[in-house]
Amino acid sequence: MGTFSETVKQAKDWRWRCPACEKTSESTGAGGFVFRIGTSGTTRSLGRCSGCDAWRMLILERASDPLPPEALNADQERTWSELIAYVSEGTMSAEVASQIAQSSAPETRKREVAAHVAEKALTPEQAMTMLGV
Ligand SMILES: [Zn+2]
Repeated sequence: MGTFSETVKQAKDWRWRCPACEKTSESTGAGGFVFRIGTSGTTRSLGRCSGCDAWRMLILERASDPLPPEALNADQERTWSELIAYVSEGTMSAEVASQIAQSSAPETRKREVAAHVAEKALTPEQAMTMLGV
């Protein structure tokens, strides 16, 4: 636990980075994101990148860190790319895609449920129940 001013300083020390075009933006620039700070490790969240004008799994990282080689989890990346495709097509809302991405269900299960939501075979509420969100 630090002092309040240290906490504020730390909060300002975070940024979002687009994995596709490497554009970075202040973490405080988008509402609510600051609340994620304090969790350990890399945090990623679905967001709209103004750099490449597309939905991306934006990376939240410390601004003072050198750009790290992203530790890729191929299975997770596949889920994200499918979710981004659904959002881009307009078959799923960004909020639902983000919730599916962040659930702790196995990646194969997330992709299966996401496909059903995109096809309207499941409502987002049913999907969240199935994924334990
Ligand atoms: Zn971008």
